[in-house]
Amino acid sequence: MTRDHSRTDQPKREIRMIACGEERLIGDLAPLSDLRTRWFDGKRAMADLLWVEDPLIEPTTKKAMAAASAEWQIAQSGFNKIYLQIAGRQVIDNIAACHVAFFRRLAGGLRFCDAKNAPVKDKWRAFVAARCPERLRPWRWVPEGVEPIEADFDVLRKIVEKADQREAGGKGEAADGIVAAMRKVATGATSFGAVPDAIIREIHRMALARLGKPDYAAVVGAKGVDDRIAQIHLDFRVIALPAPAKIIGGPKKTQGLVREVLDGLMATAGAGRTHADPKVVYLGEPQGRNQSRRTHGVPYVPNAGRIDAKAVIDVSHPIPRQPAIPIPVRITPGVADRFQEAEARCLTLEIGPETVKILAAFAKETVDFQKATPEGPAPIRRVLARDYGLTNTVSLAVLEFAEAMDEETAKTAMAFDKTEAKGWLSTRQAPAGMKILHQEHIDGRAFVAAMEGHEKDIAELSSHIDGVFAKMHAIKVCINRALHRPDEAFLGEKAVPEDAFLIHLHEKFFRLLPEARRLVAQRKAHRAAMAGLKRSWFGHLSNLELALVRKFSCDAVVREDLSYTTGAKGSKEWLGKAMAKKINWTARGFYARSASEKLAWHGVRELVVPSFYTSSACVKDGVFSPKSRKGEVFSCPVCGKSHADENAAITIGAYFWLCLKTPEPSSSLESPCDKRGRGNAVSSQEEGGSADAPYEAMFG
Ligand SMILES: [Zn+2]
Repeated sequence: MTRDHSRTDQPKREIRMIACGEERLIGDLAPLSDLRTRWFDGKRAMADLLWVEDPLIEPTTKKAMAAASAEWQIAQSGFNKIYLQIAGRQVIDNIAACHVAFFRRLAGGLRFCDAKNAPVKDKWRAFVAARCPERLRPWRWVPEGVEPIEADFDVLRKIVEKADQREAGGKGEAADGIVAAMRKVATGATSFGAVPDAIIREIHRMALARLGKPDYAAVVGAKGVDDRIAQIHLDFRVIALPAPAKIIGGPKKTQGLVREVLDGLMATAGAGRTHADPKVVYLGEPQGRNQSRRTHGVPYVPNAGRIDAKAVIDVSHPIPRQPAIPIPVRITPGVADRFQEAEARCLTLEIGPETVKILAAFAKETVDFQKATPEGPAPIRRVLARDYGLTNTVSLAVLEFAEAMDEETAKTAMAFDKTEAKGWLSTRQAPAGMKILHQEHIDGRAFVAAMEGHEKDIAELSSHIDGVFAKMHAIKVCINRALHRPDEAFLGEKAVPEDAFLIHLHEKFFRLLPEARRLVAQRKAHRAAMAGLKRSWFGHLSNLELALVRKFSCDAVVREDLSYTTGAKGSKEWLGKAMAKKINWTARGFYARSASEKLAWHGVRELVVPSFYTSSACVKDGVFSPKSRKGEVFSCPVCGKSHADENAAITIGAYFWLCLKTPEPSSSLESPCDKRGRGNAVSSQEEGGSADAPYEAMFG
């Protein structure tokens, strides 16, 4: 099925991971232990080859990466090449993430180039002065022997300012601009003056001290075994192909293959509806290109005694030319039921020290409303409109229209820019016979207050944590310098120094360590609580929406396009919006996304209205006045004051049905009701009960 991607209300796809069994690494599955070891060994070797000591001076190039990769593949011969490639891809991603963190640290350092050091207590002063005198200096990033004046900091602040302007102008992230300037200093290509250069070099030195290579070394857990879990996404190159001729194309090949196997499983599990059926279905070809020694047709019983496996997928052995490893994959009738309309996408193995977990990803696509029926999309007469207010309040309105929505008008209106949207709303009003069947306003203030409470606690904890870490770092540097070791050398708890004062410091360091860990854990708990709040609040909202859609048999949900910003990019207004968005925990976008996913999952069509001026009109009376909104109140000269968000919800709902206010057309855009002339929009509340008789039952 092909889809038209140019549409504004482009369908989305939801992906869910389903556990399809866990097996012990014995018998046929024993080689997976070897795969796990080789997987991590290979990754370590790759990281060693790709790692550069200083990404600021020596950025990793594609050429260097390809060379390292080739060298690594030769060194790792004896390990299945395909697994090696999958592992290598992950290493490249991990290293890129390390570099991003390093560059962020550099940019952050320069942004706060005049940051102050924590003051040193009197009783330590002599000791600190003798061993790490720079701790006595007021500034964190200013090295010894450098005396900055305000003008030096100004030079550095200008670099940051320039980078911020670049970002506001849509020319990439500010951090990139800052790093580029720092690189020029580090490589000697440019100079901002002796003192600013010295500060840049100091920030660079401190960031380098914290730059660490991704670590794939064994982690011995509580049980005394290596706890690492290898997460391997299976692709077509490591799965034995059941019918190669049928599958074409790169990534689609994997999807096609996995889909075929899992779809077969779903059908079996769904049809059987019982676990009693011990039949094992082969969907993969046991004698595929991996030369499995098992004979075709002989049922494979995984880990003797367990007979609920429904299919076996042959996966390549970690060592070339060895028999394939049969991985049992099973899907319960419950999952088959729930994911009946979903599409199997990919399989992932999670190999731990003792077991392997098999996970399948399922995706569900939205209904293609444009092609729902041979006559075109189903007609839309009744909609649920949503306005998401800036204060996290949601206003909903159920509207009904006499005429079905005109798809062409809607398509045109969806693509409106700011000027067109203004023209549309200022010349039009709701059509005659628009009925407001229901209105609801959900106050988000309690939610916002709870979120703000957590935010405040997190901010407090963060400054506390920074303080503890700064203290620990100072102690560490003091001890290391006294012992003639590098500043950042690891401090062992058992390695107690001999000097009495150093012993005191050492003890202090290890008293602070559990404190720091406790605070970090507390902060993490607050973050988890915020995520939970967000999930339950937005879940509650979208359930409510779905319930209204069902209660009133709405044909679609209409909402604002939240990807638009009202100001032009780079303008003051836009910067303000960007900031508001950041402190709003990106809640609007998060909500729109999760609501869209839910609506899509339940096959409800979603229409998206341009977000310009939606709270500047009273479409019932044909009033357009951007200045009529004051905070939460919209004042209409005809119908009086109303809640601005509730009013906006009606504007959004009626958007595609608006018709011209005056008989003579003043716009080239015509909606179907234009030809019928104007009429007075009347809401059910204003009109009274008589005309609404059919809907009275719904409220009763
Ligand atoms: Zn009005």
